[in-house]
Amino acid sequence: MHAIVYHGPGRKAWEEVPKPMLQADTDAIVKVDTVTICGTDLHILKGDVAAVTDGRILGHEAVGTVEQVGSGVKNVKVGDHVLVSCITACGACRYCRDGSYGQCIGGGGWILGHKIDGTQAEYVRVPFADTSTYAVPAGVTDEEVLMLADIGPTGYEVGVLNGRVRPGDVVAVVGAGPVGLSAIMGAKLFSPAHVVAIDLADARLEAAKQFGADITVNPSREDAVDIVRGLTDGLGADVAIEAVGVAATFEQCATLVRPGGTVANVGVHGGPATLHLEDLWIKNVTITTGLVDTYSTPTLLRLLATHQVDLARFVTHRFALGDFMQAYDTFADAAQTRALKVVLTA
Ligand code: NAD
Ligand code: ZN
Repeated sequence: MHAIVYHGPGRKAWEEVPKPMLQADTDAIVKVDTVTICGTDLHILKGDVAAVTDGRILGHEAVGTVEQVGSGVKNVKVGDHVLVSCITACGACRYCRDGSYGQCIGGGGWILGHKIDGTQAEYVRVPFADTSTYAVPAGVTDEEVLMLADIGPTGYEVGVLNGRVRPGDVVAVVGAGPVGLSAIMGAKLFSPAHVVAIDLADARLEAAKQFGADITVNPSREDAVDIVRGLTDGLGADVAIEAVGVAATFEQCATLVRPGGTVANVGVHGGPATLHLEDLWIKNVTITTGLVDTYSTPTLLRLLATHQVDLARFVTHRFALGDFMQAYDTFADAAQTRALKVVLTA
């Protein structure tokens, strides 16, 4: 079969590799029908994620058809059409029993396309298939469901739910990439007073409007803190969601938040940020952060199946599976191509 194989920083290829085989009785082999590329894959290709080594097949998002299951798999059968989640869950460890699947210590967590071979391939081995795959609901497309492999639950859980968005809140979302857009969409479910999207790219701000942002701010031209304070009697945002992953935007969120509010960090940071505890303690600011757990995937699948969220809007570009290298170029050059999510179909 063919797969996208990582060969060290800046190097990847769509190349011939052995087809995966069952390794444990809880595994499934899934034929990949639809697959996408995540911003985190670009971090990996820069060499930011040390655990990914030469020869690793990338990818942690897919929708596919189950081709083979181990003897211990109970809930998934050959022929099932499933979402392969970015988080693999053993289902039995202390963390999984708490719903903290991202922290699984039973052999799961974020392993696909990271510690084991991933989904950017014709076939993928999915460990703990019973707890790491989800049936595709009737009446929705593979592309829509694919948006719930990672970006949907990430924006919703790590941004909106960790941030404890409530009706009437003013929510500032810094970074309007696919993850920030998911947070905007998720925040709207809670009837906020205003969602303010903040991004340096005007194309991303246009997308933010389509995803429900009430106000968009480009900090290269306008002062986001002034605008948010203007909406909140000078107080600041109830919730500030960081969806970029650089120190400056984390620090901006700490300035945007009101006393008693929450900063929810979603971005993957490659280095430290300054935490002004001398200001934050007296403002009673709550700071949350985390790797997505995907405990919200069943909820999001229901919201999708009942048309309460529109995930089709994420898909800006479509490719055949064999055109993976071109798809990477399109995704990596989002400023020119205006790509949000690129989708490849077998
Ligand atoms: P992305 O790169 O597509 O989007 C980031 C956006 O931030 C872009 O639109 C960019 O224009 C904007 N931006 C950059 N610098 C800015 C600045 N100084 N001020 C305002 N906007 C700025 O990324 P994405 O795929 O949407 O992911 C966002 C972050 O979430 C990444 O760091 C990614 O690795 C992370 N992530 C976290 C998890 C998790 O489990 N916590 C899961 C998936 C992704
Ligand atoms: Zn991802």
